[in-house]
Amino acid sequence: MAGVETVNLQELVSACFDLGGRAGELVRTIFETKSIDDLGISDKSEEGKDVAPKPTGGLSHEEKLELAAATVDPQTIADTRSQQLIVGSLKRAFSSVAIVAEEGNLSRDASLEVSPRQDLLREHSFPEDLLALPARDLVVWIDPLDGTKEYTLGMKEAVTTLIGITYKGVPIAGVVNAPFSGKTVWGVVGVGVFGLSYTAPEPGRRWIVTSRSHMTERLQELIKAVNAQKVLQVGGAGSKGLMVLEGQADAYFFPQLGTKKWDTCAIEALFRASGGCLTDAYGADLPYSPLPGAELTNTLGVLATRSKAEHANYVLDPARFTVSKF
Ligand code: AMP
Ligand code: MG
Ligand code: MG
Repeated sequence: MAGVETVNLQELVSACFDLGGRAGELVRTIFETKSIDDLGISDKSEEGKDVAPKPTGGLSHEEKLELAAATVDPQTIADTRSQQLIVGSLKRAFSSVAIVAEEGNLSRDASLEVSPRQDLLREHSFPEDLLALPARDLVVWIDPLDGTKEYTLGMKEAVTTLIGITYKGVPIAGVVNAPFSGKTVWGVVGVGVFGLSYTAPEPGRRWIVTSRSHMTERLQELIKAVNAQKVLQVGGAGSKGLMVLEGQADAYFFPQLGTKKWDTCAIEALFRASGGCLTDAYGADLPYSPLPGAELTNTLGVLATRSKAEHANYVLDPARFTVSKF
């Protein structure tokens, strides 16, 4: 392909694997060395973005936790520093690849950047065509800290760092780091998924995992409609994706507006790479476009299962059910 800049996906995923681990370590270190007062908690939501953070002097620890729990879409210094580490380092090595990251355009901080390792996956065999993909068809979608609200509340198992890669708008590779268990799971469609600890459930089991902090009456109604045997409420999109992939639940069921493309890209790639699927609540593929003005919210919700056959148990019929908008 003369004249077309190409990227070796094996090297790009290696870099994401390296950076996911480093970002996770940073997120964990900030948690372990800073008090809740020093996390710089702000609220990015429409309701909260122009409101100055309330002074926490004189409040008890419980009152501070209540304030953190009341944020709608929180951000901390761990979110921004993790993103600066991942994005700045990726730009050093792969300047031609487009990046969409949750915290938007942050300044570069050279003190957080590294030259990412591109040789970590050498022992894995990648199909030939993945070793030279046109750079213009690749986008990296980054959630530098998924589960921020739970992070501020000390619910560490909900936290992940998410790095997903789309090729022509379809997730093909993903890296998910769980900072507090030290685990990094990665996967590439056509190569496989690595790093999971899978426990097979009883055949026919129907356990769903859904949001902890965005539960609504409408969401409860829709959960009833799919006859789950058990409903687990856990924070974070990455943690819920891993729970299904590892067999701790059977479907990630969130038929409600709210998650964004950076929440779903990396885990969708892991589902695709392992024979499962992640779609909207009606079973349609999620679109991923980095173009200005493109929709970044998954407006029709999220549904993920380990197999296409299981997916059918939870897909909503649009003629009967409207996805929750709150
Ligand atoms: P949850 O399952 O509620 O923990 O959400 C998973 C991810 O989606 C987190 O990164 C949340 O911040 C995001 N999310 C889900 N619903 C909303 C919402 N209504 N507003 C903002 N972010 C949301
Ligand atoms: Mg998130
Ligand atoms: Mg985030």
